[in-house]
Amino acid sequence: MKVPRSEQTMNYISTRGQVKPIAFQDAVLMGLADDGGLMIPESIPNVTDTLDAWRELPYAGLAFEVIRRFVTDIPEDDLRSLIDKTYGPDYFVNDTAAEADRDVALVVQTGDVFILELWHGPTLAFKDVALQLLGNLFEYILTRRGGKLNILGATSGDTGSAAIYGCRGRAGIDIFVMHPHGRVSPIQEHQMTSVADENVHNIAIEGSFDDCQNLMKSIAGDLDFKRKYSLGAVNSVNWARVLAQIVYYFHGAFDVRKRTGAKAIRVSVPTGNFGDVLAGWYAMKMGAPIEKLILATNENDILARFYNTGDYSLGREVIKTLSPSMDIQVASNFERYLYYRVGGDADKLREMMARFAKTGSLSVEPDRDGVVDADFIAARADTEQVLKVIGKFYQQYEYVLDPHTACGVCAAEKLREERGGLGNPPRHADDLPILCLATAHPAKFPAAIAQATGRGDLAKHPAIEAMMHKPTRCKILPNDKQAVRKYIIETLG
Ligand SMILES: *Cc1c(COP(=O)(O)O)cnc(C)c1O
Repeated sequence: MKVPRSEQTMNYISTRGQVKPIAFQDAVLMGLADDGGLMIPESIPNVTDTLDAWRELPYAGLAFEVIRRFVTDIPEDDLRSLIDKTYGPDYFVNDTAAEADRDVALVVQTGDVFILELWHGPTLAFKDVALQLLGNLFEYILTRRGGKLNILGATSGDTGSAAIYGCRGRAGIDIFVMHPHGRVSPIQEHQMTSVADENVHNIAIEGSFDDCQNLMKSIAGDLDFKRKYSLGAVNSVNWARVLAQIVYYFHGAFDVRKRTGAKAIRVSVPTGNFGDVLAGWYAMKMGAPIEKLILATNENDILARFYNTGDYSLGREVIKTLSPSMDIQVASNFERYLYYRVGGDADKLREMMARFAKTGSLSVEPDRDGVVDADFIAARADTEQVLKVIGKFYQQYEYVLDPHTACGVCAAEKLREERGGLGNPPRHADDLPILCLATAHPAKFPAAIAQATGRGDLAKHPAIEAMMHKPTRCKILPNDKQAVRKYIIETLG
């Protein structure tokens, strides 16, 4: 099964075509491409011939097989131990599940849908799957090359913790995460500020999330400062994050196929920045037995509108919903998809992105049947529908969905009812099993669960309860660039 390495060097290019091809490790350190685009592999490996051999692999083994197709500049033994370490026993440090259930991506059946629980990691959210690997990769690269990386991030509350847990205690890395002071939930705040590692620095900004994001952009946008203090980012445009997520699409598809005997499955993905569902699309292109991706949004539905009409146009503003990690204005990973959509024509893509920057809108032509892309079907779930499906799943199956996962379940149910609706030609494949990605544990969103079920005692997890009693550490700073810069400089000594 092993192909000699020399035959398959994988380089990375930018969607905007103005970065020389570089190796994986350089692409990981680069994050956003230097020409403003996103880094992508120069080809997508086809693994159809190896699927049979992959089916029974444990998660880390499968991750190694998938990832090594994209990573040819790290020796295989190193890559394997890096991945084994990432998804080894420490990954489940907060999980009280039985040993047998300790799966990075655990399939459970509820009624006629399957749920892929991706929240068994340290912060109870699917982002751990990628950020734990990214943290290990950074550490590996820095140890070998020397040097330091200082991560600067801004969070509205929910995703900061996964970034912090990905970087905590890693050699060569310091991480600074800004959140709006007093405007994140107590659980979110504790998840971030109870981490005691010396390389973790929480900053509560006296301002809004937008203020935090503007501070980050203006500090990282100062190139002298950025270079001098080796500022980096862990946001979802980093290719390594997409790569890590490809793995569980294979894993989930194998598992559901084994249980049902179906030839292929559909996967429903609660979507915000398009990183997760893009990983599913790569898995499909590689040959994973996935027939379609169901793209689910909340009221912030720019992507659902795109896949139903071909028109990608900004909404007026971000709407706050029960699924905050999907409250986005533009989807930062969508550019990768568009690149393939225009046939890999970087010039054309640059033109489209420039037009979008100027007008807030771009579009592609649907086919004669009105289908924008046969690989996707898309639907939006609004707050009322989300609450209803959480209530229904609890009553019927005693299974508690978090509000993000519930968007995906809603979209899947809706599309099944509509049978071939949404501009797609009528299909006869409606009996294909559906796998819904569960992106967070409900205990992270107790208010929504109480509202949906009428019960305040369902959204619980021992890891969260334990964390609420830990001491916290956080620096409160004014909404002022100089103050934040000064804090970073002093902290780094
Ligand atoms: C980040 C996140 C999402 C959205 O994932 P994208 O890759 O941004 O599309 C969905 N659910 C949860 C819980 C998240 O944290």
